[in-house]
Amino acid sequence: MIDLSDYTPSCYILQLVSNNSFHNKLFTIKKLTKIKYRMTNKKYIPTLLVISSAIFFLLNSCAPENNDFYTQEADLKYKSTFEFNVSDPIVVGKSMSITGTAPGADFVQAKVDVWEIGSSQVENGEFEINYSFNSPGTDRMLTLTAYNGNDIVAETVKYIDVYADDPSLTITWSNPVYKNTPVAFTGVAKNAETVAVYVDTWPIGTATVNNNQFTFNYSFSSAGAHRNMIVKARDINKQVVSEISKPITILKESSGSFQVPDLVLMYHEITPEPVYSSDVSVSNFEEQMQWLKANGYNTVTTADLLSGNLPNNSVVITFDDGYIGNFIYAKPILESLNMKADFFVHTAYVGAPGSHDHMTWEQLEELSSSALFEVFSHTVNHAHLTTLTSTDLNHELFSSKRAIENQLNKNCSFIAYPFGDYNAEVIQKVIDNGYQIAYAVEDKGAFYFPRQYSIPRVGIGKNIYTINQFIQRITN
Ligand SMILES: [Zn+2]
Repeated sequence: MIDLSDYTPSCYILQLVSNNSFHNKLFTIKKLTKIKYRMTNKKYIPTLLVISSAIFFLLNSCAPENNDFYTQEADLKYKSTFEFNVSDPIVVGKSMSITGTAPGADFVQAKVDVWEIGSSQVENGEFEINYSFNSPGTDRMLTLTAYNGNDIVAETVKYIDVYADDPSLTITWSNPVYKNTPVAFTGVAKNAETVAVYVDTWPIGTATVNNNQFTFNYSFSSAGAHRNMIVKARDINKQVVSEISKPITILKESSGSFQVPDLVLMYHEITPEPVYSSDVSVSNFEEQMQWLKANGYNTVTTADLLSGNLPNNSVVITFDDGYIGNFIYAKPILESLNMKADFFVHTAYVGAPGSHDHMTWEQLEELSSSALFEVFSHTVNHAHLTTLTSTDLNHELFSSKRAIENQLNKNCSFIAYPFGDYNAEVIQKVIDNGYQIAYAVEDKGAFYFPRQYSIPRVGIGKNIYTINQFIQRITN
């Protein structure tokens, strides 16, 4: 807050109606003169001029020589700058602290992009805001705004990078990881001589650090979803200088030679008049399929991802939720272009009416009997899988698979997570129930989970209504 000890009371009052710029002092004097002029008679004008001159003199003589209040207030108002530091590096899940000084302000607010992430009172000119990111990203815009009351007195922007892992200590490997198969781990360990590596609490070996890097091989003897790779970096005195932990999923066995396709599209209802955001109009859908065809994309089915022989520009076209428009509108368009697609249905809703009706088992059977189309699981009840008990989770995975296999007389080894909602436990149960491939929605968890059980998809909805928007969506 303002330190008034350097001011006489009269000087303080003058400072309240003034500030450091010559222009503003003149303005203040004009205002004072006008007020007095209205209250008095014209004959006092000479007297008022004398008073004004006296005020002007006082304003200039009153400020102490080395006046922090003036300079800082002026900085804040007219240069819009103040000092702050951000803890470095910024790592997902770890607290980032923003500390700094904002003299003349009483409150500082921090935003990342457009979201407020925290605020702090300013005490003795200082502030501190702590925040923990839950996703990585580069060039995030951190904006700090200093307030005095409701007035913004300063605003400063810094661009920050948020790392998935502490870049001074990392460990990476390529997914998927299978038991009884050697895995190469590589990592960075700055300022360390050696690293000790653990799986949960079990030490599995040590590695020497050369040029800040280490490599390490290990073969897991059992599968599991809740394992953690733990790396402890030690200095020359064998003291632990830093430590990280990163989840790892070890699969029971390799299911064919899985390849990630170049593109996976996710559609829901195709209808002449889109209502919901996930709906796509028939004409837009047709235009999008024609564009893919004309631009060298090759449609493949989910089963083809295990063939070890994907064509160039491979695309999987997926439909979730089993809506009737898939059968009425999408099917003939795809057939006319000889394009493949896979349909993911939640089995309790097959044939059910609704705001959009669902396909019947007869219609699904007709799809499934075509060489172009397959039908797979989207659970029983379209459940948020990460929220279920182990028993309910098993039911959603097992019963939907069994219903599709019984009704269509085909294997159902693929699933799309409703809402793209999954975690390590869901993946383990998906594997335990005999699924070989699972689709997510976006790129969530790409750092931690095997791709085979978390393939990201690009959702297309009614907001994509020009072909240029479609091209941008699938190429970004
Ligand atoms: Zn769905």
